[in-house]
Amino acid sequence: MHSPMPYRRLGRSGLQLSVLSLGSWVTFHNQMDASGVREMMAAARDAGVNFFDNAEVYANGLSERLMGEALAQLKWHRLDYVVSSKFFWGLDAGTADKPRINGRNTLNRKYLMQAVDASLQRLQLDFIDLIFCHRPDPHTPIEETVWALHNIIEQGKALYWGTSEWSADEIRTAYAIAERHHLHKPVMEQPQYHLFHRKRVEQEYARLYADIGLGLTTWSPLASGLLTGKYRQGIPAGSRGAMPNVSFLRDGLLDAQKNAAVGQFETIARELGCSVAQLALAWVAHNPQVSTVILGASRLSQLQENLGALDVLPKLTPEVLAQMDAISAPLAA
Ligand code: NDP
Repeated sequence: MHSPMPYRRLGRSGLQLSVLSLGSWVTFHNQMDASGVREMMAAARDAGVNFFDNAEVYANGLSERLMGEALAQLKWHRLDYVVSSKFFWGLDAGTADKPRINGRNTLNRKYLMQAVDASLQRLQLDFIDLIFCHRPDPHTPIEETVWALHNIIEQGKALYWGTSEWSADEIRTAYAIAERHHLHKPVMEQPQYHLFHRKRVEQEYARLYADIGLGLTTWSPLASGLLTGKYRQGIPAGSRGAMPNVSFLRDGLLDAQKNAAVGQFETIARELGCSVAQLALAWVAHNPQVSTVILGASRLSQLQENLGALDVLPKLTPEVLAQMDAISAPLAA
């Protein structure tokens, strides 16, 4: 048993999310079948997780399908869980001679309206709690996107909207447009945040938390597994680093300086009586601007270990945090 799950408001909204939540990128479909997904979601829910993160593009729509099937079978009360999806890349690029130009790499109104409907079908839901613009689209006016998101919410197909990996400037622009026209405002951002990736959350967005009440659902808290120490001796078989469909991660996972730093974090973890993964996750959760840390796990034992980060939170004294900062700050983007 772990410490009880704490809940935090998603920014200035009234919605409460579990501090640790569960994501599906890479894992659902590629590493887990329907029963694995159901078991993983059930274990997370048993531990108090109430937020499950997804995206249209994950496993080409199959991640949403698997989550939808699991939710249909688990039959939880709809008030007890929050589901997200994200839109930008589109599902089918068309063919070389007939590219699907209005359905990829875009946040235009037409794509967003159609994409949400298709997502709802795959998830077997009447509404998606949180919808994200998965990346900024420099070719569509932000005003068009804000209106589309507002309309989707007004149609009852989503409850809150936000962004993922937008600049502070783009987020502020979207917020100002929504405020000017009395539209639903962006409530949350989904940025990468871990010991080796800090500047956007800690510096670029610094003013947004108080100014517009931005909440954060942060991704890749273990830097895709680097912060578990599993890549210190190369790429283990069966790990994410060995998967051909995410080969772009490989160089980062093998970074010698970062793996040496992970060794130093391991020493701190040993002194605290926890694993380095738990230490790294607790460090992310310790930041009060983080509404929820989205965990990734390819097997149940990882999820169980990672949920143990809750026990480590009270051990992050100012001295421990200072030690970690001295190791992380020089290497962090
Ligand atoms: P992590 O950085 O925590 O990486 C998770 C992976 O690390 C696991 O799948 C597993 O991979 C390995 N791992 C996790 N725990 C352990 C452990 N205790 N011991 C050993 N290995 C472990 O998170 P993700 O990169 O998966 O991101 C989390 C979620 O964030 C995603 O599921 C998605 O929902 C969201 N996300 C959002 C993005 C966005 O653009 N908005 C981008 C990326 C993610 P393996 O066993 O295969 O090695």
